[in-house]
Amino acid sequence: MLEIQHISKSFGGVKATDDVSLTCPDGSLTAVIGPNGAGKSTFFNQISGALRPDSGKILLDGVDMVGLKPGEIVRHGIGRAFQVASIFPSLTVEETLLAAVAADLKRSGEILKRFPLPETRDRARHAMIMLGLEDKRHRRASTLSHGDQKLLDIALALVLEPKVLLLDEPTAGMGPEERWRMIEKVYELWSREKITLVFIEHDMDIVFKIAPRIVVLCYGRVLATGTPDEIRRNPKVIEAYLGTDHAEDAA
Ligand code: ADP
Ligand code: MG
Repeated sequence: MLEIQHISKSFGGVKATDDVSLTCPDGSLTAVIGPNGAGKSTFFNQISGALRPDSGKILLDGVDMVGLKPGEIVRHGIGRAFQVASIFPSLTVEETLLAAVAADLKRSGEILKRFPLPETRDRARHAMIMLGLEDKRHRRASTLSHGDQKLLDIALALVLEPKVLLLDEPTAGMGPEERWRMIEKVYELWSREKITLVFIEHDMDIVFKIAPRIVVLCYGRVLATGTPDEIRRNPKVIEAYLGTDHAEDAA
């Protein structure tokens, strides 16, 4: 279970996150929404260790992640998607994933007798299948479409076998059709892998359709947490973020 307790982070005078708490039970699916600048990415960056909270705790199965390095947090089981194609542009999809697993096995102290070990290959193949990248395994990461690069980013997180997966706007920069294709993959991943998934998304149609639980951030604070119906009908959320369109949809 992931328990975020009262985390705050300021940049100068800006309280990017202000006393944010959230509990994500194992296997839960949670969407984080809110206006631009609400603190959503800052919230994720603290969980992944890219930023250290000024105060508060981030407990994964009771162990506090605050102060650990990002790599250590990954090893504890909190994964997040990075822009892979910009990190390893010349590697193929398969090579990227194999390299990540090999590095992971090495760090965990398992002896690499021969590269790639069957486990390395199995994990890479599994991640490619889950993200629908198997037929593109020999393509260089940099030649993939924007959508496929995003899928590879997620595959790279998945290959490290996270308990918790954080996705910051997985559909950013995509057209409507590609967006649904991406979110279907993400949903499938969540339902099959039984991971705890937390994602940031600004497309409200997607959020209301797939997230059983939604957290609304506004000016760094949690404005509301609830089911899609609760969030759609919440007057504070309508006023601060949704406007009346989605409220009318709900009615
Ligand atoms: P969101 O992801 O919801 O759009 P962010 O978490 O990116 O919001 O930003 C929240 C607030 O914190 C914004 O006012 C932003 O300008 C500020 N902020 C975020 N990161 C930094 C940083 N590294 N340095 C200074 N200010 C930052
Ligand atoms: Mg953001």
